[in-house]
Amino acid sequence: MTSLDALVVGAGPAGITAAMYLARSGCSVALCERLTSGGQMLMTAALENYPGFPEGIKGYELADRMAAHLDGLAVERLTGDVQALAGKAPDFTATVDGRPVPCRTLLVCTGAKHRPLGVPDEERLVGRGVSYCAVCDGNFFRGRRVAVVGGGNSAMEEALYLSKIAAEVTLIHRRDEFRGAKLYLQRLESMPGKVVILRSSVVTALHGESDLTGITVRNVATGEERQIPMDGLFVYVGSAPETAYLPPELERDDRGFIVTDTEMRTSVPGIFAAGDIRSKNCRQVITAAGDGATAAHAAFLFLERV
Ligand code: NAP
Repeated sequence: MTSLDALVVGAGPAGITAAMYLARSGCSVALCERLTSGGQMLMTAALENYPGFPEGIKGYELADRMAAHLDGLAVERLTGDVQALAGKAPDFTATVDGRPVPCRTLLVCTGAKHRPLGVPDEERLVGRGVSYCAVCDGNFFRGRRVAVVGGGNSAMEEALYLSKIAAEVTLIHRRDEFRGAKLYLQRLESMPGKVVILRSSVVTALHGESDLTGITVRNVATGEERQIPMDGLFVYVGSAPETAYLPPELERDDRGFIVTDTEMRTSVPGIFAAGDIRSKNCRQVITAAGDGATAAHAAFLFLERV
């Protein structure tokens, strides 16, 4: 089996961009995705900060447009899970759903997976009131009461999205200050009848036999606990990377994200990382795409030398 110049894992904005750049520079490249391309864009209602779309663009629409950019380019598409990586550059072998895929370089663009809240009964109630995707599940809660947990951009954006669907949205954040954009907070605060904001508060219990019916919230400042009737709970408490298939010597930060240099080179020669899976501060679609282009260029230069 001929070895690919590059195997790009993950078809979100970082992976799509990397595959596009590699194909355009004449490298043989395959883009491997577990299900469908788009990554977290597919779970984002709308993006207001992607340059070129001042009116905003729906997440799935941007994902479709990015994927369409690969049409006509020599990018092989693989569907499956990368389960293992063996060998050294330029003789890696990735295992994709049990099949060996030889490659000279690997570009890891698999993003990060939502983190659960970690309260009892959370797993039992997933799909029965507990969700991690407002775009996917919000419609089930039309005209009903929902809570969103988290204080970052995801929680705030999705609370705004849900405010158009649900009867009432309760945004619950463990601190007084929000981590996400002030603009979102202002919008949420401008809807007092629709959006309730509980600061310095944590969810300590979920209630309901077959479906969620309520949550217990504790005010961390006063210690007061109360039960609130609730039909839906959307959890946005950050994300964690999935890097188990990568070699243990590949440097990760204390949260498991992959450490790279400015050229997206990891500590293992021939492995590059781009997008949300990297250890970095600014996780945006635009920075993921930028990382993808940089990683592709670095991989191209690496391939010229080996
Ligand atoms: P995030 O920025 O890491 O925020 C996670 C939030 O969850 C934080 O407010 C954190 O509280 C809270 N949290 C964490 N663990 C918790 C727990 N066990 N219980 C209760 N609350 C908990 O994650 P994110 O909002 O998913 O965003 C991820 C990245 O994507 C960020 O870089 C973000 O800026 C970016 N993003 C950007 C946009 C945009 O620009 N439009 C949209 C979405 C995401 P603390 O604040 O107290 O730590």
